[in-house]
Amino acid sequence: MFNSLSDRLTATFKNLRTKGRLSESDVNKTVRDIRLALLDADVALPVVKEFTSAVRERALGAEVSGALNPAQQVVKIVNDELVSILGGETRKLRLAKNPPTVIMLAGLQGSGKTTLAGKLGKFLKDQGQTPLLVAADLQRPNAVTQLEVVGQRAGVPVFAPERGNIAGHDAVTGAIEGTRSFGDPVAVAEAGIQEACNKLYSVVIVDTAGRLAVDENLMQQAADIRAAIQPDEVLFVIDAMIGQAAVDTAEAFLHGVDFTGVVLSKLDGDARGGAALSVASVTGRPIMFASTGEGVKDFEVFHPDRMASRILDMGDVLTLIEQAEKAFDQRHAQEMERKFLAQEDFTFDDFLQQMAAIKKMGSLKSMLGMMPGMGQMRAQLDALDEREFDRVEAMVQSMTPFERTHPKQINGSRRARIAKGSGVTASEVNALLERFGEAQKMMKSLARGGGIPGMPGLGG
Ligand code: GDP
Repeated sequence: MFNSLSDRLTATFKNLRTKGRLSESDVNKTVRDIRLALLDADVALPVVKEFTSAVRERALGAEVSGALNPAQQVVKIVNDELVSILGGETRKLRLAKNPPTVIMLAGLQGSGKTTLAGKLGKFLKDQGQTPLLVAADLQRPNAVTQLEVVGQRAGVPVFAPERGNIAGHDAVTGAIEGTRSFGDPVAVAEAGIQEACNKLYSVVIVDTAGRLAVDENLMQQAADIRAAIQPDEVLFVIDAMIGQAAVDTAEAFLHGVDFTGVVLSKLDGDARGGAALSVASVTGRPIMFASTGEGVKDFEVFHPDRMASRILDMGDVLTLIEQAEKAFDQRHAQEMERKFLAQEDFTFDDFLQQMAAIKKMGSLKSMLGMMPGMGQMRAQLDALDEREFDRVEAMVQSMTPFERTHPKQINGSRRARIAKGSGVTASEVNALLERFGEAQKMMKSLARGGGIPGMPGLGG
């Protein structure tokens, strides 16, 4: 999402790197470049002003001595200030002392609230919570069904009103501006909380209605729901792709409903996204989560420091490690370690499991994008063909159990059969077997303490 901002800032720093001492005019030029980069990325003007004046002041006062050279110090200052506009510390979800914790979602229609309800539900479930999703978006005719689908995908139950008859209201009542609406969202939200109390759910996530643009009725409805259910957290969901409008929308929701945290959605898009970066600073509310795709897994806790270093292309090794840990099956890891230490052969079955683990980590490209220095390699990354993974997987799946554990026995006719079974050419099978042999050798030599003779690549 922040690719072009990232590229511009990196280029600015590169100019600095060749310099020893920084003169005042160097600092001014750098600050000017940063200012333009931020404005071009749609970062809100007041935020840009505050940001650049802080960077300028600190850069001018930067000590020449110390562990960092002046150029490195500027990078560090920019990093610190970015962390600060993004909200500083990572802010965790506040869980109520007496469950259920009530989380209300607010935001414009299409901002990604319903999708987020599922992601957040799954996230909490993975942490041992028992969440319940409540469909209090009664404005859009299919919102309730959509939440039910999302809940099913996330494996989280949904409390939905019975169509046409909720809490004594008739169908098609409360329709505003000609939109069909059934029932009273406040009553549904309250009934959802009651359901959670009765059935001992530990967290309730209440999805509310949004409109295409900010309006009085929408705000009033959200404020009414808020007053009725007294949520522990109100999360304002903002589509990072809406550009400059993000700041105005956030301010309208701040005054109309108030919220305790922000969720940036659609960070996977290629819009400039800078406005979303301004939201924490403008509203004084922390960004708590980021949504990065349509799938239930495309969701992460927002860490201001990691986001800053991602934007500055310093990589995001921590997020990467966290995702890897989540995905990698512990038992499999232990088994691999045992085999490794016993210097047993690495088989194609192990290989398949590792590929599955890598796939679980999400798209390979987005993963590589988090690695330090990868920002510079974007062109190569874009050329990377993720389907290669599928081809390799198809080849391994076309092997018999015997072949998977005895790759050296795969002779010409077996190779031809595998190629036919997986729809690839025999030379692709040959190449895979060759790389696999190298990987096996490397594992052995590593286990013997022989160092790394060179990482075998998967791609052809
Ligand atoms: P709501 O009206 O606020 O409930 O928004 P929805 O959850 O229905 O989302 C609107 C659209 O945006 C849907 O098509 C979602 O699949 C899509 N969407 C939601 N979150 C993301 C995201 O993080 N990335 C992308 N690319 N699409 C998203």
